[in-house]
Amino acid sequence: MSNAYSFRTMTAPARSNAAPLVQARRLVVKVGSALLVGGESGRVNRAWLETLVEDLLRLRKRAQQVILVSSGAIALGRRRLGLRRGALRLEESQAAAAVGQIRLAAAYKELLEEHGVTVAQMLLTLEDSERRRRYLNARATLEALLTLGALPVINENDTVATAEIRYGDNDRLAARVAQMAGADCLVLLSDVAGLYSADPNKDARARILPEVRRITPEIEAMAGRSASAVGSGGMTAKLLAAKIAVAAGCHMCIAAGHHKHPLRRLEEGAECTWFVPSATPVAARKQWIAGTLRPAGAITIDAGAERALLEGKSLLPAGVTGARGRFERGDTVSVLAGDGAEIARGIVAYSDADAARIMGRQSSEIEALLGFRGRDEMIHRDDLVLMRGAATTGAAPGAAARQAP
Ligand code: GLU
Repeated sequence: MSNAYSFRTMTAPARSNAAPLVQARRLVVKVGSALLVGGESGRVNRAWLETLVEDLLRLRKRAQQVILVSSGAIALGRRRLGLRRGALRLEESQAAAAVGQIRLAAAYKELLEEHGVTVAQMLLTLEDSERRRRYLNARATLEALLTLGALPVINENDTVATAEIRYGDNDRLAARVAQMAGADCLVLLSDVAGLYSADPNKDARARILPEVRRITPEIEAMAGRSASAVGSGGMTAKLLAAKIAVAAGCHMCIAAGHHKHPLRRLEEGAECTWFVPSATPVAARKQWIAGTLRPAGAITIDAGAERALLEGKSLLPAGVTGARGRFERGDTVSVLAGDGAEIARGIVAYSDADAARIMGRQSSEIEALLGFRGRDEMIHRDDLVLMRGAATTGAAPGAAARQAP
């Protein structure tokens, strides 16, 4: 990725608390249905969308990578199908999503490609984020799109998701996407301006909390229940999203989106609520790796690789001398020195069988040895944490640990 990052602006305007937005390297912006779809017409609210697109382009000009999570498929499709009033049955909302998603994607494509930005549609289901293999595949696709300069536009795959296995709200989906992408900022644009200290309809003293550092029971009580006429994620869904984001080291903001230029407004100091993580995305990921209770297996390395690891480099297949235990790509494994001491832990890019085949070999030989072109590294340095001072582990590797942040 990212020499380009060095060009980004590092300071936020003085009045605003939007530093996490201005400084983020990779952002996820979630747009709620109520913003995108004009209430009466049931059509895309183009005048507003154009201003959002301008804001997104500004972020990209500052070399910030942007992912959009957009709702609106069901709201756009239902009117077209004549499903005007009341709650939809599941199959009706799936039909509406099928009709609406194509319109939603067309609107983004048209507006962004006018400015030379390539738009990519990704439709995800709950299982894509909860099942390890699918999670890794989705993550790799997202990474490839961003590296190639495309702007991913993501929604839930509503046409196939059934009641039990769907997010149902794009707030949590967006948080999972932020986690998957290692984003450092998530902005939820919707029809609520933030988290209020009390219900603003009932209490004149209710105010928006500018910053939440810990999601305590009091904070959860403040969320209460808030409903929006068009979308489906209330404040409860937004708090669940905040928990996911913050645990992954990602700042999250709840902000009003209905004004024109909603992101610029935030930078200019508009009120909103920021949820602040205690670690960066990489640190959160490394904490998670270090905290794995039972690594799925172990990889032994030679002295040269050990030196490379201590210098902060990745582990290449060439430095691997052995693999034991059963593990899959994406599992956490121990990295052992020749004397059996655990010097690191990391998320491995190959299964135990593939690792055994490529160990001691050059990365350029991987394709010929395995028949597919995997990663050059056995464990990438972003997925590796040194276990300095850790006791030697003689323990047999146990069950695989799943679902890294
Ligand atoms: N995925 C739904 C749609 O595009 C929206 C879910 C939500 O409102 O959060 O219509």
